[in-house]
Amino acid sequence: MTTETDQSPNLLQTARNQFNNVADILGLETGLRKVLLTCKRELTVNFPVQMDNGTAEVYTGYRFQHNVARGPAKGGIRYHPGLTPDDLRALAMLMTWKCATVDIPYGGAKGGGVVDPKNLSQPELERLTRRYATEISLMIGPDTDIAAPDVNTDSQTMAWIMDTYSMQKGYSVTAVVTGKPINIGGAEGRGEATARGVQYVIREACREKNIQLEGAKIAVQGFGNVGATVARLLAEDGALIVAISDSANGLYNPQGLDLKNVTIYQQEHHSLAGYPNADGISNQDLLGLDCDILIPAAFENQLNGQNAGQVKAKIVVEAANGPSNLEADRVFHDNGIFLVPDILANAGGVTVSYFEWVQDLQSFFWNEAETNRRLNTIMSKAFGEVHKIAQERKVDMRTAAYILAVGRVAEACLTRGIYP
Ligand code: NAD
Repeated sequence: MTTETDQSPNLLQTARNQFNNVADILGLETGLRKVLLTCKRELTVNFPVQMDNGTAEVYTGYRFQHNVARGPAKGGIRYHPGLTPDDLRALAMLMTWKCATVDIPYGGAKGGGVVDPKNLSQPELERLTRRYATEISLMIGPDTDIAAPDVNTDSQTMAWIMDTYSMQKGYSVTAVVTGKPINIGGAEGRGEATARGVQYVIREACREKNIQLEGAKIAVQGFGNVGATVARLLAEDGALIVAISDSANGLYNPQGLDLKNVTIYQQEHHSLAGYPNADGISNQDLLGLDCDILIPAAFENQLNGQNAGQVKAKIVVEAANGPSNLEADRVFHDNGIFLVPDILANAGGVTVSYFEWVQDLQSFFWNEAETNRRLNTIMSKAFGEVHKIAQERKVDMRTAAYILAVGRVAEACLTRGIYP
């Protein structure tokens, strides 16, 4: 399972540009800008792993913490052969802003290993993960830095990290990671949390834009963990899911797709291709479909200066991280398209990770209904706060979310002051 995007060479530059735009609006002074543009801690580890054939390989891993002024660092661990320190700097920074947007008491972090897990056996992957966890145990911990799944890592990876950390402490420390299996302290509802958060902000956006969600036409790019779940949840709200796609194929039915049938077909054929009750559609055409809501839920850099002008949806909701670049933002703004940015739209995942951590620390667990109720409260409040700033300052929703998030982190830094 992957939970985040592939790397982009421009990720860090884009993240810094977005920050600088808002730092200008907020009038942040130079020293504070330097603090917020820089990762607080960057750990690189090179470590051997015993392979199944008896040889040893040396792997490189990282754990970066961007800012911890508002609380312990929080962020995913990804395994990817193209992982670079600059990607991690950008992604850690984005985590700081995302946590601040929804006002949960965390700073941002990111980590991972330079490895393609598909080339490793399961025992090799376990040994690599346990050794990596040991190497970064200098930094991670329930009070310091809480890890989670990301690209090419999953609940099993988190279980190995949690167990390794616990073995070194001599007792179980469930709160060192989130996204764990439920039987070792995972949270009910964590699997669907990102999609639920997207559903909640879509309900808010529809209210603001006077769009009836029941009967609204929705196109979803990416039919994975987030995309398929959000499509199902919105169909339960009465929306018509007119198009979906994965990396290879797209389906279009203006009357609405029967998602249960599509899912059964996909499981049986390991592909969407050839599904009988829909036409095929390319990913580019899907983005330009005549619909009410477009949900990019695949990966980054899908909407840019070239194709954003073709978008006909009234609302674009970024379930994926970084699916639109700055030029696309400008086009959407000029064309009156209402954009719900990633740091708000997909923050449901980290919010329920926060709930998981809280439950682990208290050894007191909630049911899924309780999780969803609290998630709805947080997502709706964050949407309202971002929308208010957008209206008051006459800026787009992304700029508004950054004003809110960067403002909160800057305020925390200033309140704490510089040590010593
Ligand atoms: P996933 O791997 O489960 O699903 C991704 C989907 O996108 C797959 O269906 C894949 O086939 C499809 N895809 C890949 N390339 C595509 C292309 N060119 N065109 C159309 N579809 C394509 O991943 P996911 O966990 O659902 O994550 C999707 C996005 O949501 C990522 O950007 C991720 O960073 C973001 N996100 C996920 C979570 C989470 O909790 N899973 C949290 C926050 C953000």
